[in-house]
Amino acid sequence: MSDDAYDIRKTHFTSDVGPELDGKEVVLAGWVENIRKLGGIKFIILRDKEGQSQITIPKSNSKLFDEVDNLGKEYVIQVRGTVKKIEKAPQGAEIIPKEIKILNTAISPLPLDPSGKVDANLDTQLDNRVLDIRRPEKTAIFIIRHETANAIREFLIKKGFTEINTPKIIASASEGGADLFPISYYEKEAFLSQSAQLYKEQMSSVFEKVFEIAPCYRAELSRTVRHLSEVYAVDVEVAFNDYEDVMNLLEELICHLFKHIKKNCSKELMALNRELAVPKKPFPRYTYTDIVEKLQKEGVGINWGEDISTQAYRKLGELLEGAYFILDWPTAGKPFYILPRKDDPKLCESFDFMYGWLEMASGGTRIHKKDMLIKRLEEQKLEPTSFSFHLKTFDWGMPPHAGWGLGLDRLVMILTGSENIRECVLYPRDRDRLTP
Ligand code: ATP
Ligand code: MG
Repeated sequence: MSDDAYDIRKTHFTSDVGPELDGKEVVLAGWVENIRKLGGIKFIILRDKEGQSQITIPKSNSKLFDEVDNLGKEYVIQVRGTVKKIEKAPQGAEIIPKEIKILNTAISPLPLDPSGKVDANLDTQLDNRVLDIRRPEKTAIFIIRHETANAIREFLIKKGFTEINTPKIIASASEGGADLFPISYYEKEAFLSQSAQLYKEQMSSVFEKVFEIAPCYRAELSRTVRHLSEVYAVDVEVAFNDYEDVMNLLEELICHLFKHIKKNCSKELMALNRELAVPKKPFPRYTYTDIVEKLQKEGVGINWGEDISTQAYRKLGELLEGAYFILDWPTAGKPFYILPRKDDPKLCESFDFMYGWLEMASGGTRIHKKDMLIKRLEEQKLEPTSFSFHLKTFDWGMPPHAGWGLGLDRLVMILTGSENIRECVLYPRDRDRLTP
């Protein structure tokens, strides 16, 4: 065993090793998951990004047999050896090594056991995130996250959407709101963007169908299992559409996504012990008024016009399973850019897409007439001059448009069955956590 590794490359991943390679020489590389001794045989379980292989060292190879004792958990090693077909081994084959190189060592004890045999609380997991994510059921969450973004992107591009990138450093609040992070920007104050809203609306007047997958920033004061300060949002805006159209689009996307994950992430779902049920179209649609009545009937204290509290959402999650929409919200509680209903302006053409107790997305028909937009800004006690950069684009031919913003992190929560949003983000940011 030597550490003078000149060729660090491998010929195969662990998942390539199977009985069909019997007798072939391979070079694998990865991490020492475990070392076991069983009488006259020593086993190394080698882990790489695809899975695990069993490296079997018989006593007859006395040099390697002794050198196995120099290895520790999470050491990075390269193994050159011969594949041997064997029914009992995982994947039906093992590796009989000719050479084992140590490419790097690791400390012992590690702050967290990546094999998952010793439980660690969420804070310890997050503090030692790299080790934590080496556990297969954690890796699985991020493979599903990767596939989710990938599937959404593919779906929208196929439908003729253009992917855009909008600024995350902005001069004024896009939606008013007190949940903005101020930053020092040269001689001025600026803010981190809380949503792509205004910019995606503007771009609907050029590309007609646009989307963005990007972070947005919310200075959330409360500590909950569904809020972070740095959030990934999937934002969509479509010209010549109303809220019905974009609700249908979202419904189709969600069904497509669940099917995609079921098909392409079966290994990951298994690691998570998760059965994924594809929601059926059409998703139930309840008005805000229906929901308030349902909650009142259940004894939840809520008056028409009020926001739905966390406790009320929890109740809703008990009453309504899976995917559904809540539509026609009170205009006063929704952002200024949402179009009031013509027949009843105290309601607006808005919706939330829900999954159980969790709000996944908000959307609606937008106001495309400048004078109405100014009136709504004033009604919401916002200063139209702060929005002049936006309002002027409404003089240049703004089409009617609609769209939604979908929380990617919450979507991964439901796909993976995670209880806490922090589990679905590599390096979560919240009120208490700014590292690692
Ligand atoms: P909530 O009421 O749950 O705080 P919101 O209505 O303020 O959410 P929107 O502005 O509608 O959020 O943002 C669109 C989507 O982005 C939400 O439906 C949610 O999925 C996600 N989202 C918003 N804020 C957060 C956050 N702080 N942490 C995680 N996801 C968020
Ligand atoms: Mg919302």
